[in-house]
Amino acid sequence: MGWWQKIVIPFFGLVLAFWFYSARENFKPEMLKGKRVIVTGASTGIGEEMAYHLARMGAHLVITARTEAKLQKVVERCRELGAASARYISGTMEDMAFADRVVKEAGTLLGGLDMLILNHVGASYFGYYNGDVEHVRKLLEINFLSYVAMTTSALPMLKESEGSIVVVSSMAGKVGFPFTVPYSATKFALDGFFSSLRQEFTMQNVNVSITLCILGFIDTERAVRVAGALLRSPPAPRSECALEIVRAGALRRRELYYRYGSTRLPLLLRDCAADLLDYLVRSRYR
Ligand code: NAP
Repeated sequence: MGWWQKIVIPFFGLVLAFWFYSARENFKPEMLKGKRVIVTGASTGIGEEMAYHLARMGAHLVITARTEAKLQKVVERCRELGAASARYISGTMEDMAFADRVVKEAGTLLGGLDMLILNHVGASYFGYYNGDVEHVRKLLEINFLSYVAMTTSALPMLKESEGSIVVVSSMAGKVGFPFTVPYSATKFALDGFFSSLRQEFTMQNVNVSITLCILGFIDTERAVRVAGALLRSPPAPRSECALEIVRAGALRRRELYYRYGSTRLPLLLRDCAADLLDYLVRSRYR
């Protein structure tokens, strides 16, 4: 056996073992028991599924979206599933005063805050950029500025609890996607804001984690209706996706890639073969 087999192979074995075990820090549902959590965009889709997972884990929940009737049903189901408490506040995230009010009211109802899950997303079109600047502005307000406003309001409570911020983003927030130009712009903005904020938290010893979630195609009703027929790959299940987001937040991960193979691996090409990555993204469409 050559020297390299004696040294290099065990060395890589050790590196792999370290990576495997450190990357899979144990998640226990009890980590969320009694935690005070806000989930936005929880009337349907991934947000609704996150609310159900958190309810099963025994969290205190405040959920929000616009459609009151749907929120009522989600809250009822959360109570049945075992939430320590479940309430909703309805309104639109086009209004920054509402974004601020949700956090303040939730803080009063819950007596503080441990986790802020920012997930809501405004409706946009699926097609070539149509030149509608007003739509881009409105979408930035819903998908980006309201996230900033809620984070700003929540920070004093999160600093006190040494809590977590979970930001739900997309592959379209890491690489340019065709047919979703305004949406993609809002998701890139989230990366810029929250990755910079994380740097400042480290410099200021602020013990609030920020988890940016990079999702691929998920089988929510709207995503399947809008893009299902045009995308070649099948969507991933929203319940599993929701659980991965909750786990990543509880483990205070920096970023979550779901599903890993279809998000993280292609993104490795970004710096060394950007044109190839663009081509791969385009080839996802029929
Ligand atoms: P969804 O099913 O369309 O749900 C969106 C949620 O946001 C709903 O609860 C909706 O409720 C709420 N919402 C919409 N407009 C709002 C407004 N103006 N103010 C307040 N709430 C509003 O979305 P999803 O597919 O679950 O996506 C959840 C997150 O995952 C989003 O951030 C999305 O970008 C990300 N993501 C999804 C996919 C995917 O394929 N599904 C892929 C990548 C990333 P109301 O209509 O009742 O307000």
